[in-house]
Amino acid sequence: LRVQENYNLSGLNTFGLDIKARYFVRVQDKESLYEALEFARDRQHTVLVLGGGSNIVFSGDYGGLVLTPDFRGVDIARGEVSAGAGENWHRLVRHTLDAGLSGLENLSLIPGHVGAAPIQNIGAYGQELENVFLKLEATNIRTGEDAIFQKSDCEFGYRASIFKNNFRDCWVITRVYLTLSEVYSPILAYKDVQEEVARLQIDDPAPENISDIVIAIRRRKLPDVSVQGNVGSFFKNPIISSEQRDKIQQEYADLPSRHAEDHQYKIPAAWLIEHAGMKGMESGGAMVSEQHALVFVNIGSATVTDVARLTELVSSAVHKHFGIQLEIEPAHY
Ligand code: FAD
Ligand code: NAP
Repeated sequence: LRVQENYNLSGLNTFGLDIKARYFVRVQDKESLYEALEFARDRQHTVLVLGGGSNIVFSGDYGGLVLTPDFRGVDIARGEVSAGAGENWHRLVRHTLDAGLSGLENLSLIPGHVGAAPIQNIGAYGQELENVFLKLEATNIRTGEDAIFQKSDCEFGYRASIFKNNFRDCWVITRVYLTLSEVYSPILAYKDVQEEVARLQIDDPAPENISDIVIAIRRRKLPDVSVQGNVGSFFKNPIISSEQRDKIQQEYADLPSRHAEDHQYKIPAAWLIEHAGMKGMESGGAMVSEQHALVFVNIGSATVTDVARLTELVSSAVHKHFGIQLEIEPAHY
């Protein structure tokens, strides 16, 4: 087991924050995982599981053990697909499409590892992981015991799961199982996708077409992490009551909203941030992207303090204008 001390994580979080882990280890099999967990237990260190670092924001150096589960291997047997936690998500998507299976095409080009996908029930363009999820294998950080979580155990919600709530930092996900389909029914609910299908004059889109379209839209709309560090959407789209929406619409008649469950409405956080005058707002090296107001970008050596200040500036501006409290989407430590 190769545990490294005072390990620099700046290349392991896509925002590019220059922070360190007291200890860092990458594990590729169960034996090394158990050993690493024992290492942390013996020294009474907390454990942070790190995948591709594309949905994580640090508020300082991490004082415990940062552990990357680099479990590999993809198995495809008819519609059932399983993949190790360390596999790249987008590569898995393309692999399943090549195997003639559909279900993941709308989730193309989401950064990060397979093991993180259940954490916030990744979603995009009308598809969410839970719709294709079967089960996962995980190891308990405290006890080292292995367990299987079926879909109903995971308490999936909008950008949420039990692993982001009650079981936060309790389990290392090692393998994820999905059920995909050989029969295709395209998900075309999102305007950007519909418009692109129409523009390209595709009458009967195949899953690969939708994947290519989603990739093109994402490349056009989102800042490139290799150019400007970011963690995608910085806030969740808030879900508010119909009364609250009606009240805001008295002042902002053009407030966009989508019907959610139980007489509630989902409001695009990007719209709120823009209309609170925060697009382009800077705090040191952190900025609200000019390209997409829901994304904070690293415009040069952003510090944890810059990010914290920008979070506060944006949240309080949105609260002041609309009375809505934004919730940070990435995991924060
Ligand atoms: P990390 O950032 O490494 O970790 C995120 C959280 O998951 C942490 O709490 C970590 O402890 C936990 N975790 C990671 N791996 C494991 C594991 N194996 N076991 C237990 N816990 C684990 N998200 C979407 O939902 N939809 C999008 O469309 C989307 N678009 C994005 C676009 C961009 C440009 C970027 C930068 C991010 C985007 N994201 C999106 C967010 C992010 O890519 C996903 O949430 C992704 O699943 C995170 O994977 P990761 O491996 O980078 O996780
Ligand atoms: P968009 O298409 O401009 O739409 C703005 C918002 O309205 C989205 O956030 C989306 O909510 C909602 N929306 C649009 N059409 C909808 C429909 N038909 N039904 C229900 N809700 C609808 O959004 P975007 O910013 O370009 O992002 C496109 C997709 O990629 C979204 O699904 C978004 O969540 C996802 N994405 C996620 C991240 C991340 O880091 N989490 C980063 C980039 C993109 P939803 O967000 O609930 O879908």
